[in-house]
Amino acid sequence: MRTSLSGVLSANHIRLEHSVARIYYPGSPRSRCTDPPARLPSPHSMRPEDVEHMREAIGLAEAAAAEGDVPVGAVIVCDGTVIARAANAMRSGGAIAHAEMRALAAASATLGTGRLERATLYVTLEPCAMCAGAIVLARLRRVVFAAWDDKAGMAGSIEDLLRHPRLNHRAEVTAGVLAEESAVLLRAFFRDRR
Ligand SMILES: [Zn+2]
Repeated sequence: MRTSLSGVLSANHIRLEHSVARIYYPGSPRSRCTDPPARLPSPHSMRPEDVEHMREAIGLAEAAAAEGDVPVGAVIVCDGTVIARAANAMRSGGAIAHAEMRALAAASATLGTGRLERATLYVTLEPCAMCAGAIVLARLRRVVFAAWDDKAGMAGSIEDLLRHPRLNHRAEVTAGVLAEESAVLLRAFFRDRR
């Protein structure tokens, strides 16, 4: 995880979606699943409540950093209500204790089901392969994240599992919400550990 997040150490590696040069055109040769990944644009998908929920996720990330964990926070909202809050806890929970996994488990416990079709996940860093897989399995309607992760991101940076054409569920994705605030936290965390 530490290695995989090294991409966020450099300001050059943190990009908001509007600055991404590669554009994906459905139906073009690039849309074949074997083609290189593309960070799909979502310029009109941001909603008014997104900043508020992402700010809460960033607060959770800050709390994780205070505990010595990589600062990533996640919030899950269903029908306008926050049903789960979690932060990275890999120091105590091991490699699978990512904020998204912990938030998904809490949301499933709250709702009494593993299917979260009406839920939106807010997370401060682009999900990794494990978390993106769990998001697809839980059938989340929407994922909103802050910073891109060049080294491990599976929402368009390395591959796009959240919107893979051959999987049987695709989430709506909004990227770049409070991206710089999340990136600053991550950079400060890794800088302090050197
Ligand atoms: Zn993850």
